[in-house]
Amino acid sequence: MHYFEYKKGELYCEDVALKDLAENVGTPTYIYSQKTIERHFQAYQSGFQNTDHLICYSVKANSNLSILRLLGEMGAGFDIVSQGELYRVLQAGCDPKKVVFSGVGKTQTEMAYALDHNILSFNVESEQELKVLNAIAKEKNKKAPVSLRVNPDIDPKTHPYISTGLKKNKFGIPMEEAKSIFKNLAQYPNIQFMGMDCHIGSQMLSLDPILETVRELKKLILDLKTHGIEIRHLNLGGGLGISYTTETPPSPQEYLKEVLKELEDLHLKILIEPGRSIMGNAGILLTQVLYTKTNTSKNFVIVDAAMNDLIRPTLYQAHQDIWPVAGEKRSMTTVDIVGPICESGDFLGQDRDLPELKSKDLLAIMGAGAYGFTMSSNYNSRPRVAEVLVLGETYKVIRKRETLEDLIRGESL
Ligand SMILES: *Cc1c(COP(=O)(O)O)cnc(C)c1O
Repeated sequence: MHYFEYKKGELYCEDVALKDLAENVGTPTYIYSQKTIERHFQAYQSGFQNTDHLICYSVKANSNLSILRLLGEMGAGFDIVSQGELYRVLQAGCDPKKVVFSGVGKTQTEMAYALDHNILSFNVESEQELKVLNAIAKEKNKKAPVSLRVNPDIDPKTHPYISTGLKKNKFGIPMEEAKSIFKNLAQYPNIQFMGMDCHIGSQMLSLDPILETVRELKKLILDLKTHGIEIRHLNLGGGLGISYTTETPPSPQEYLKEVLKELEDLHLKILIEPGRSIMGNAGILLTQVLYTKTNTSKNFVIVDAAMNDLIRPTLYQAHQDIWPVAGEKRSMTTVDIVGPICESGDFLGQDRDLPELKSKDLLAIMGAGAYGFTMSSNYNSRPRVAEVLVLGETYKVIRKRETLEDLIRGESL
């Protein structure tokens, strides 16, 4: 994460001082480092070496048009979970033929829209969905390209809300059922079967569940082969974890090395859908201290960002490091960093040891590039914050701060 570092006692993003961004763009603001995004994407690219592959960046992690365009220009495809995300990919000028469409609840409108734009593949998550897609494709006199999302019933050992590969989760098709669908493909004349996919969870810090999944999928692929069914592409999903504080996840290269070793004799096209591991540590949320106060047992630092801007801490009990923008030495205190929203769950960090803070001090909530802005809302009628992309000494506002008029757009009296 070395594109966010202290220079001359001040926190920088690349060669731009965060203090200057606060002055020029205001707070709260999401700030992304282009060089970090590029480095993370290249780490995956280089890990694939000569293997036929496509990196489908998971749009829900951060769907800003400028971020999509940047990744598209580097050769990324996209993993989408809604019509809106496909619309964004198109608006960013990226290629729909590199788009895969995941999600358990695709509507007919969404399927039709994606078919019209000739996406690469639908990641189908149930037999009913497959039937509906087949019917829509038939009406359009098309063949819908499909991967079956299998649920391998493997525990990714992550937060329960972002665990997706267990039988008790709503995602994917159980292995046995997938096998029987593959054996009855003739029932779906308007489906073109491309392969299979999976995505067992997010923020995974160990390779074991991923490798176990790969071995299960390999077994299924080999079994189908004996029945004359050829799987050509295998999508392993996303989910590689990042270091928010002291976690030590495998690097993209280590992950790919191990995974590709398991699969080398199958000669498949390998797709992956990383989101967090590309964007998470490429962004921060810059916020300013409004007030400090002490109740009998706690010290509170009230900042201008809140749970509506960054919900991970309260939704997932996620720990994200909080750094003071001014690096000067002060005496340390233990504080809760909280927002202005009328909920006790409105915190960005609890029991943090930080240099003594006062009004107008700036703080950086680290690791906020993924599932930050995209999960933000207007709760408490707070306009959504600005987003900035930094490259070297330059920066661009890639989303304006919302105005009061934005808050009521579409409403009537
Ligand atoms: C969310 C999601 C991803 C991305 O997960 P990360 O943990 O951000 O890498 C990939 N594939 C699917 C189907 C998803 O739902």
